[in-house]
Amino acid sequence: MSSIDWTQVRSDFPLLTRQVHGKPLVYFDNANTAQKPAAVIEAVDDFYRRYNANVSRAVHALGSEATDAYEGARATLARLLNVRSDELVLCSGTTFAINLVAYSWALPRLAAGDVIVVSRMEHHANIVPWQLVAQRTGATIRVAELLPDGSLDMDALGKALDGRVKLLAIAHVSNVLGTINPVREICKLARKRGIATVVDGSQAVPHMAVDVAAIGCDFYAFTGHKVCGPTGTGALWARREHLQAMPPFLGGGEMIKEVSFEGTTFNDAPHKFEAGTPNIAGFIGLGVAADYLTSLGLDQVQAREAQLLAHFTEELGKVDGLRLIGTAKDKAAVVSFLIDGAHAHDLATLLDLEGVAVRSGQHCAHPLLQYYGVAATCRASLAFYNTHEEIEAFMAALTKVRRLLG
Ligand code: PMP
Repeated sequence: MSSIDWTQVRSDFPLLTRQVHGKPLVYFDNANTAQKPAAVIEAVDDFYRRYNANVSRAVHALGSEATDAYEGARATLARLLNVRSDELVLCSGTTFAINLVAYSWALPRLAAGDVIVVSRMEHHANIVPWQLVAQRTGATIRVAELLPDGSLDMDALGKALDGRVKLLAIAHVSNVLGTINPVREICKLARKRGIATVVDGSQAVPHMAVDVAAIGCDFYAFTGHKVCGPTGTGALWARREHLQAMPPFLGGGEMIKEVSFEGTTFNDAPHKFEAGTPNIAGFIGLGVAADYLTSLGLDQVQAREAQLLAHFTEELGKVDGLRLIGTAKDKAAVVSFLIDGAHAHDLATLLDLEGVAVRSGQHCAHPLLQYYGVAATCRASLAFYNTHEEIEAFMAALTKVRRLLG
């Protein structure tokens, strides 16, 4: 049994006390973005009130305080992922992180005849950058398909990873299905065959202890706003040898050692990839968010969310005409569903009027929805600060909405 007082934990999140349309908010859109604990909001506020200055430039006191806090956040994030902090590039989020790998690592290396494997369940952020690389290099994209429950077809994946494959891009956890992919096993397989691996950790880092070193990938990307941190923050972890070999993606201040009109020498990694003034306050907030999750314990977070998921799944199972999309055994608390005769957008709109926030649509995963033959789903995604009472409130709201929809 967990010794954590989850009611107390919930009270750390000021936004969760608000009402929407006169009803208490039930925020079940955590896969989209997570809410922020007061400590994160206060850290951002404190930066602007007390030591707002640019990083790595000024020698004055404020400049050093800002730089120390910013680099301190990098070290905290490195501890969270069990990686070296000089292998962690701070950037605006997963989308930037994956594009950095696409432009700086893949573009110079891939050529006609090469293959990039992506899974059917990828977010567009882990598909479109590879298509851009393929268009420019003549490489082709190959899809690793799923089993109907939304887990990866591991036999098919094994066969797909043939001698032409240079890169495998795979989600750690699906943002639509909640499927937790066995990334350690997958990366081991790829590594044995000399295939580089990019793991999209956007939906994993907020919900479980992630040991990137143990996964054994080449690149790991995540986004800060889903980890209770501010928007516009995230990171790419990459093996040192890759960071050293990769050319910079963007040029400008901060990423150089010396500039003359004859040429420029670049800063060492990771700063070589951090051109321009970063989102300093955002990263300081993200560092506090990482500390917050670590102090709760990510194993505790995962166990709590597993309990909520079990309860929620059981309740949804009682609803006539409700179809769950994604029923893999290893699953995070992301639940996509459809109800016979109801459009997902209508469901989400009417649920909103009951104070319930869920997402409807294609969740930036068009190829996945095509596989299931559906135009849109409703997605309820839970976090540790959600409650069993909110699940009951959701079910009551759903009953009402279904009655309204006839
Ligand atoms: N990958 C996955 C699995 C996601 O869920 C998301 C966010 N929805 C992204 C990538 C993109 O993250 P961001 O928009 O923060 O760059």
